[in-house]
Amino acid sequence: MEKILDRFLRYVAIDTQSDEESSSQPSTAKQWDLLNLLADELRAMGVKAETEEHGYVYAKIPGNNGKDTPTIGFMAHVDTAPDASGKDVKPQIIDCYDGGDIPLKGVPGLFLKPSEFPELLHFKGETLITTDGTTLLGADDKAGVAEIMDAVQYIVTHPEFKHGPIAVAFTRDEEIGCGVDSFDVKRFGADFGYTMDGGEIGELEYENFNAAAAKIHIQGRNVHPGSAKDKMKNAIHIATELNDLLPKLARPEYTEGYEGFFHLISFKGAVEEADIAYIIRDHDRAKFEARKEMMEKAAAFIDAKYGEGTVRLELKDQYYNMREMVEPHMHIVDTAVKAMELAGIKPRIQPIRGGTDGARLSFMGLPCPNIFAGGLNFHGKMEYVPLRSIEKAAEVILNILRLYAE
Ligand SMILES: [Zn+2]
Repeated sequence: MEKILDRFLRYVAIDTQSDEESSSQPSTAKQWDLLNLLADELRAMGVKAETEEHGYVYAKIPGNNGKDTPTIGFMAHVDTAPDASGKDVKPQIIDCYDGGDIPLKGVPGLFLKPSEFPELLHFKGETLITTDGTTLLGADDKAGVAEIMDAVQYIVTHPEFKHGPIAVAFTRDEEIGCGVDSFDVKRFGADFGYTMDGGEIGELEYENFNAAAAKIHIQGRNVHPGSAKDKMKNAIHIATELNDLLPKLARPEYTEGYEGFFHLISFKGAVEEADIAYIIRDHDRAKFEARKEMMEKAAAFIDAKYGEGTVRLELKDQYYNMREMVEPHMHIVDTAVKAMELAGIKPRIQPIRGGTDGARLSFMGLPCPNIFAGGLNFHGKMEYVPLRSIEKAAEVILNILRLYAE
């Protein structure tokens, strides 16, 4: 049996960064390096695994419990975020962390400090895996990949472990928001699933934002400023006025938990024309619809004030809260809770302030909550993961299977 730490270190050594500028699937060919490796490793363990041209690995393990048990899916993504390099990752292993500042030795003077990242102190006495300060670590989501592979290894080497049918999938391009664009739910063949892609140990998520994007074009009228009286319409001022109609406290920098927001993400303008863009987010579907309505009213008000055709609003839904798809099957969440408790972990259910691949899958007919993969400070040089969290996540996978097999 390969140890999960060694497995994790092997996977993070492979550069799999995705690229938001690319439109190919997967967005970067190098993601195949890990996808192919995983398919080979699964086959070497005697598991039926297939790669699929758009950048997926699908694998199946038949049940051995002699009962009619649902097929449970486990998924993780192989890509790492474009925000920081994932090439030549040189992890540092900190044994028995003493609670002090950890030097990231690739960059003189750079430290991972509990004064800046107080969660570090939750892991005093544990083994931590950090970066050397020059790259991200890639625990997002190679921790999830390693956890699933470790659980599979356990299952194939322990025939006495009773379980129902299992579906495994490794996906690509989660970090650029198109991880499941071509995902084949039918081929995957699970009745429901879990993404192993959350953060700190204990995290369990089955709620995410409802999301829409708003693009607003303002048509002004430029006239020589010397003779502009009663003629000029300054698109910059009009755009600002429209923005002022939106509630100021409903912004990301002032909200948390279940509070939704309007987030102004770009503002480009001159006197003649201006373009502003927002994302709109809310966990509650009714409040989400009300926010979109508020945006429409603001646009209509300004349009009427400055003359028809001044404001053009384009509003597009992006994704929805998976809660409405998961809630009718709450056993999926309840079983994950029980599986964590069996592993001695206190589950922390919290709403995601964003979206996940699981959210989109839930609306494609595969209810799919998200379980912790164990890492912290994702997408940057300060990323780290406690070894025990990875081990516990693999244990949670086995516990879920065990609970459903009974
Ligand atoms: Zn992730």
